[in-house]
Amino acid sequence: MRPQPINNIMDIVPYKGGESKIAGFDKVHKLSSNENPLECSPLARQAFIEEAQNLHAYPDGAHVKLREAIATRYGLDVNRIICGNGSDELFQLLGRSFIAPGDEIIQSEYGFLAYGLLAQQQGAKCISAKTKDYVTQVDAIIAAITPKTKAIFLDNPSNPTGTYISFDEVKRLHAAIPSNIILVLDAAYAEYVNNNDYSAGLELAGEFENVIMTRTFSKIHGLAALRIGWAYGARNIIDAMNRVRDPFNLNSAAIAAGVAALNDYEFVAASNAHNSKWLEILSAEFNDNGFKAIPSVTNFIMVEFDSENTANRFDEHLKSYGIIARKIGSYKLSQNIRISIGTDEANQLLIKAMKEFK
Ligand SMILES: *Cc1c(COP(=O)(O)O)cnc(C)c1O
Repeated sequence: MRPQPINNIMDIVPYKGGESKIAGFDKVHKLSSNENPLECSPLARQAFIEEAQNLHAYPDGAHVKLREAIATRYGLDVNRIICGNGSDELFQLLGRSFIAPGDEIIQSEYGFLAYGLLAQQQGAKCISAKTKDYVTQVDAIIAAITPKTKAIFLDNPSNPTGTYISFDEVKRLHAAIPSNIILVLDAAYAEYVNNNDYSAGLELAGEFENVIMTRTFSKIHGLAALRIGWAYGARNIIDAMNRVRDPFNLNSAAIAAGVAALNDYEFVAASNAHNSKWLEILSAEFNDNGFKAIPSVTNFIMVEFDSENTANRFDEHLKSYGIIARKIGSYKLSQNIRISIGTDEANQLLIKAMKEFK
């Protein structure tokens, strides 16, 4: 017999990132991966380049400078921060340290694909709680809890829907779950949300032993290539995750660029302003031109079509303008398409494409 992978490894459908090429186009507008159209902080780029002097040396395995910068920026206890090679790695560390074969995790319907993948890898089951109008329903999540539930993964705001729930709703969810279940607040898009009733959840993660909040440098900081994520939570959770992580999970260039990016408030503010402006314009243009844009608080917009066929036709139509959007059939949303907010040029082109779609 051949070597056999454990658990349900061979049932896993490998994650596929957004496309980046269109045949016949030299230059494309990649609006398929929620990347920052303003690129990244010039200070972060400079810090990255300077690290080229130190390639012979191992990175700081404890990420002290980055954790200190995060602690200072957000007023946190540095000992309760963990950094990961992207927030994807943080989810993996949670899985490895808290989820065993036969366990269950709960996500909101259309939850970020990484959650389901990690459940499969651990031999656990990922239960999806129904949404309403693409918005997470706290009561549906509560109703899905069983004695096997180990963690609840809440992407808030959600990808690929772009919707969010208020902090009051998150607190209501937390109050209703048994204390042995971890509530994971994935706040990858937090910096884009300008609504007063939203919170990434630092307050909860600071107070309770079963809450952890994750963040990323891939979105508003524009450092997706460097893979930097961080999490803040109860000591017991962070301690377990630290025991299963690679000793040098972040490289030196990522640590240096991360610190610089965090301190470039100007770049973050400019990114938020660019996004807020275009989110409003593009959402209105979609709706005015007969499309159904789902209200978003993120750096992308999900558009719902009357059929999978129309969604595919619009996707092809965008390609003829050099625009790559994201088909989201892997989220069981074949009738929908997700489009990131782009540069001024890309957004203008997108509006033209909307108007010329038949
Ligand atoms: C983009 C994204 C992340 C960030 O992933 P990284 O591994 O940090 O690049 C996390 N969660 C959600 C829901 C996302 O959309």
